[in-house]
Amino acid sequence: MIAGLVALAVAAGLAVVGAVAWQRHRHFAGVAEDRRRNDEWHRRHEGEVVESETRLRLSLDAAKQGVVVADASGAVLYRNPCARPFAEARHGEALVEAVVAELLAEAARGQAVEREVELYGPPRRILFVSARPLRRDGRDYGAVALIDDITESQRLDAMRRDFISNISHELRTPMGALSLLAETLAGETDPEVASRLACRVQVEAIRLSGILDDLLELSRIESSDASERSVVDVRNVVADALSRVGPAAEEKRISIEASLPVLDLRVRADRRQLASAVFNLLDNAVKYSEADHQVRVAAARRGGCVEVEVSDRGYGIPLRHQKRIFERFYQVDRSRERTRGGVGLGLAIVRHVAANHGGEVKVESTVGEGSSFTLVLPAGNEPLADEGDEPELPETGQPRGQQPVGATA
Ligand code: ADP
Repeated sequence: MIAGLVALAVAAGLAVVGAVAWQRHRHFAGVAEDRRRNDEWHRRHEGEVVESETRLRLSLDAAKQGVVVADASGAVLYRNPCARPFAEARHGEALVEAVVAELLAEAARGQAVEREVELYGPPRRILFVSARPLRRDGRDYGAVALIDDITESQRLDAMRRDFISNISHELRTPMGALSLLAETLAGETDPEVASRLACRVQVEAIRLSGILDDLLELSRIESSDASERSVVDVRNVVADALSRVGPAAEEKRISIEASLPVLDLRVRADRRQLASAVFNLLDNAVKYSEADHQVRVAAARRGGCVEVEVSDRGYGIPLRHQKRIFERFYQVDRSRERTRGGVGLGLAIVRHVAANHGGEVKVESTVGEGSSFTLVLPAGNEPLADEGDEPELPETGQPRGQQPVGATA
């Protein structure tokens, strides 16, 4: 009986011990599992933190602005590639680094600051440095400085301002003349003088509308990148331009020799833009030549390009002006050019047309000998939009009694 009881007690004891052991085992297994889960969570989140930090850093590395991050004491923690050259610079550019350090220190004290820094170069550059405090929930994390190169935007601003003032000036001159002429005309009793004044009113009105036409043409060409393209034969384009320049050439008894060989002179182009470019070159050649002189236009194929060359034996352009004549409103001799009706937009149109078509315009000129402008365009290989249309060369600019302009093979 006792033995039975003892056996029972032992069995019960063993059961209790077993249960406790099982419980402990479960407990420790749970703790280990929790720890494992915890570690796993940390590992995963640490990975995410590292990943997002890397992403952030790569984004800052790719920024076109310079970025410099400093801690609350002003010590630099990070500098992106755009900002690095300033830290390594010795001469003028070192000034930027000094400004960055100064602004970061101010920003770390809680104040947003900015400053423009001009580097005299060459090349001359204008940088805009701004710094902001990094702060969240009342805690300071330091400051960030941004460096922007604003040279180009300032240049464009200045160009826009110049453009507006030039337009106003160019329009005011004929408008003033018109108003004065109209006033005089109103009080004029002599019909002969009145008729002369009316002619001058007409000349000024034509001049005004010429300026507006050029402005509209330039803005159209600047805003479109030759979207209406088709394959055109350059000989047809030259023919269009020749018929437009005809009256002006005739007035000065200037003959225009056209050399348009029967070759493959196809280009993929906006025909209207191209005709405008060639017309401006021919118009200038006529405008800047003495009466009775000769102008020549020739088209040729060179390598993968079609070239249109317009040459004259006119006044020529001094070397120092040759780079600038393609700028809007630039004229070599303002008072002289004015009397010829120019406002300085023709070559800007030519340059834009060339750029729109992936080509270029070149100039060679000698004062007193003449000028030669060459429009270079990539050749087109597709069939012509209007196959087989032979250019009809107008009898342009020919003094009476001479042979009309013709294509020379
Ligand atoms: P403009 O309306 O004054 O002719 P352009 O833009 O066509 O303006 O030309 C700019 C300047 O370049 C002209 O004012 C003139 O001084 C000079 N120029 C252009 N073409 C010629 C040329 N063929 N011969 C001499 N000077 C030229």
